[in-house]
Amino acid sequence: MLPFKLIYSDDYYLPIGAHVFPAEKYRRIRDRLLSTSVADAKDFLEPQPASDQDILLVHTPEYVHKLKTGTLSPREEMELEVPFSPELVKAFWLAAGGSILAARQSLTDRVAISIGGGFHHAFPDHGEGFCMIHDVAVAIRRLQRDDKIRTAMTVDCDVHQGNGTAAIFAGARTASEPLPSVSLSTLDRHPAGKMRGAHAGDVFTISLHQHNNYPMWKPPSSIDVDLPDGAGDDDYLAWLDNALSSGLRQFEPDLLCYIAGADPYREDQLGGLSLTIKGLKKRDELVFRVARARDIPVMVTFAGGYARNVEDTVTIQCNTVIAAKEAFS
Ligand SMILES: [Zn+2]
Repeated sequence: MLPFKLIYSDDYYLPIGAHVFPAEKYRRIRDRLLSTSVADAKDFLEPQPASDQDILLVHTPEYVHKLKTGTLSPREEMELEVPFSPELVKAFWLAAGGSILAARQSLTDRVAISIGGGFHHAFPDHGEGFCMIHDVAVAIRRLQRDDKIRTAMTVDCDVHQGNGTAAIFAGARTASEPLPSVSLSTLDRHPAGKMRGAHAGDVFTISLHQHNNYPMWKPPSSIDVDLPDGAGDDDYLAWLDNALSSGLRQFEPDLLCYIAGADPYREDQLGGLSLTIKGLKKRDELVFRVARARDIPVMVTFAGGYARNVEDTVTIQCNTVIAAKEAFS
């Protein structure tokens, strides 16, 4: 039995037909975890959908109304890049409920993983890039509303920048905020990447992503690490280490939200970085080690993953569970 819970429902499946987003990955991850005895049936918790009130903590009433009445404009549907349906709306409400449950559970178990979620391209008033509802932001705002946490840090390791996250939590940022101090020695060793940032507010956002990739417009996170095309394991891990140290020097989160995208993988169809499966597991280990050392609860969501062979995406995301098991046993 795992020393933490996995949040999963068969209804996490996104009804989007044949699509580059492998909606069946959630069930495959669950099945692989069971068949390899990494987890057993008792490790899983079934989430409830978020309430409309929860969703409205992040999203505008106008946008929520359009989703619930199926009245998005053709342009809004196009931006979403997944075919709209009432069933899809349900799946996103459930993903948000799963993230709320994972966040809550992590406060008692130190870590919790939702085998779903991580829809970091959703904005308050629109969805884009396969993301309708920002489940992680909803979870943060719900726990804050319940007085369970005051502050949170998002650590977004999906290959695509967390534009929705940056936009949602940018509200309290002021232009005069100082830049974070950056370790020059690390920058010297890894001159190709670029770290930039500014922060104010109750949620600190970190995004490590490929610079030359979607989204074209990248609203500023508290720390953005813009990685060059083809960056590999060693550079990536050094930048992640640097960004985590820099972020945690400036900010004390009550909760860490790890968005563990599988798409920095070198075989990814929508990514242009060169991480190996081994390197991605080291990435997970680093995040968990840092969180554990500082006693910060971690909730994990899985975000993107478009490997040519979907089994690789399943392996990478199962490895996140294995890394958590190793770190928190
Ligand atoms: Zn992605």
